[in-house]
Amino acid sequence: MNSKALIADITAEPIDFALKEPFIISTGRKDAANNVLVKVTLEDGTTGFGEVAPSAYTTGDSRDTTIAVVKYLRPILVGRDIRSWRSVLGDSRRALRFQVGAHSGVEIAVLDAFGKFAGISLCDLFGGVKRSVETDFTLSLGTPEETGAAAAKAAGEGFRKIKVKVGMTVDVDTARVIAVRNAAPRCEISLDANQGFTPKEAVELARRLEKAGIEISLLEQPVRRDDFAGMRFVRERAGVPVAADETVITAEDAIRVVREGAADVINIKVAKSGLLGALDIASIARSANLGLMIGCMMESKIGLAASVHLACGLGCFTHCDLDSVYLLKPFDCEGGFTLDGPVFSVDDITGGTGIKYAG
Ligand SMILES: [Mg+2]
Repeated sequence: MNSKALIADITAEPIDFALKEPFIISTGRKDAANNVLVKVTLEDGTTGFGEVAPSAYTTGDSRDTTIAVVKYLRPILVGRDIRSWRSVLGDSRRALRFQVGAHSGVEIAVLDAFGKFAGISLCDLFGGVKRSVETDFTLSLGTPEETGAAAAKAAGEGFRKIKVKVGMTVDVDTARVIAVRNAAPRCEISLDANQGFTPKEAVELARRLEKAGIEISLLEQPVRRDDFAGMRFVRERAGVPVAADETVITAEDAIRVVREGAADVINIKVAKSGLLGALDIASIARSANLGLMIGCMMESKIGLAASVHLACGLGCFTHCDLDSVYLLKPFDCEGGFTLDGPVFSVDDITGGTGIKYAG
């Protein structure tokens, strides 16, 4: 036994970030990111950092429940050997029926501590397939003029892929996407309705955009998350690949998407499924020949770093939507990754996510 490898403590505290601009999607508006910082300390002084950007609407966890979950799990984690991270996290995950979003912060912090202790980056731990990934940039709901102006700005900043939030009305969204195409003629365009359409509306939007000569790379979560038949209806008629986001939180959800033919692509988020759930869902999707996207909530670089390492390490995500760092005002935190325009690199990271946060 190596007593230096034991978990000495795990804590959770509120951490707040300001947004550069309000972020508006079909399910609501956000003016700040009110997140939770999770810290795991080892007996040798190594500190692992995790973060949860709670989305009660998506995963059921608020900031308060996230902090309570970490406190509840503390006795299961303290005194355990970090080198057995898979069984440690398996035990803490099994202690909860739900709260997978809250648990994701524990998983990130435990794996960051393990990687720092072992001297291996999470990218390398997950397979080391790539050292860098390129993200898209997401545009909020707004008028066609506002959306077009935001697209021109993103293209000017070097983004080559633009994700447009839709789910207003078919007429308005058609005009908005045409405005994006005109403002950023060379950018790839994907759409995310966040469950905002009926199946028929989603198909109608896709058909109108096709008539306008606009190619859409992906239509994300067109209809309600539990409407598997509706997802399939859109998939069979819209002529564009359909992605399941809110529909898939757990591996069981992913299996149901496969069985019911409900999507072409699954959008994996560490904030929804944790790192272990993300690995399971990625395996299911790849086995079923579905495509993979990786997304994020409103996490700062502390939490986002884990998703960047997962995307690089597995190297199998054809759609990468890890843009929360561009939406938040900058704050003082080193490590995690380096950024060059839309490209994240983890080449310099030698342990865990490499996040160094003094608080
Ligand atoms: Mg989405």
